[in-house]
Amino acid sequence: MLKLMRLKPALLHKTGPQVSQEISACIGCNECLLACPAVSEPITIDVLNRETLSGPISPSVARFARSCYQCGACISPCPVGLHRESMMMLLKVRLLQSEMEE
Ligand code: SF4
Ligand code: SF4
Repeated sequence: MLKLMRLKPALLHKTGPQVSQEISACIGCNECLLACPAVSEPITIDVLNRETLSGPISPSVARFARSCYQCGACISPCPVGLHRESMMMLLKVRLLQSEMEE
């Protein structure tokens, strides 16, 4: 969580803590990924949610993060009103940050 707090807010639609709160409300229904035109390989919501927030980012999730073009097609299908595109933006920032630290 400390790392999330340090991310530059100018790059994010929502702050790290806001995205973290949304992810904790995710019911894992997968509707956002079913609607996403950028998914090209199997990704599970559990792994995506976990790696969005902390820890190492696996190659498949990193590829998905790079493929996301913030189209917003994942927003309306979510039955609990969450914003996967904001989660993806946070993941993109984490990915960039981890690449800069390498
Ligand atoms: S914003 Fe990203 S995750 Fe959402 S549907 Fe578009 S490409 Fe997929
Ligand atoms: S559609 Fe919403 S609740 Fe379902 S997995 Fe995606 S973010 Fe979570």
